[in-house]
Amino acid sequence: MRLLLIEDDSTISRELLLRWRPRGWVVQACFSLGAADQVLALSPDSGAFDLIVLDLGLPDGDGGHWLTKLRQRDRQTPVLVLTARDSVADRVLGLRCGADDYLVKPFAADELDARVEALRRRSQVSSGGLLHYGCLTWLGDEGRAYIEERALELSPREFEVLGILIRRAPRLVSKRALLDALADRNLEIGDNVAELYVSRLRRKLAGSGTVIRTLRGFGYLLALDADAGSH
Ligand code: CA
Repeated sequence: MRLLLIEDDSTISRELLLRWRPRGWVVQACFSLGAADQVLALSPDSGAFDLIVLDLGLPDGDGGHWLTKLRQRDRQTPVLVLTARDSVADRVLGLRCGADDYLVKPFAADELDARVEALRRRSQVSSGGLLHYGCLTWLGDEGRAYIEERALELSPREFEVLGILIRRAPRLVSKRALLDALADRNLEIGDNVAELYVSRLRRKLAGSGTVIRTLRGFGYLLALDADAGSH
């Protein structure tokens, strides 16, 4: 989970960092909208963060206005708004600006975690869609994958593993991220059998011009097979 936290209350910010970082979440904390703009400008694509947690009252402006502008260029990244303003009008305003959820301060950290997890799950499911890599096509909504025109026979777990690898290809997916993504879809597998699922999937991809590489101790990546077609 890569998370952008925009919150000027240093106590809240510190507590959330201490809570989230041990889980392996990569958290970038900003105390102002200007700092957040700089972080986003340095990020190569709009999918740089899985989620943004945004306070509305910030020293250099209103989080709601900032979110309206963000939504003009990034409609995908889920945004959870933190607000000290507990009126229906303010909450509606936050959602109209493009927030996906909100939480009123003071909040219980457990509730924030639950909402963050739920938003991430929702965005991962809705990002099913259609993915291509090399000769592979992965159709999230139909639960089918193809090598060119030929349908692959995949178990639900193999199908999801392939989707996760294609989405990141040719970049590395850590084993932890793979296991977490499967668990998010209620398709848990044990740490010790991840390699088994990947090996089976690797065999089924033979002839696709793509190959799953294992980087021991790091994770997996799907890459174009440089040797494809040479024999
Ligand atoms: Ca504030």
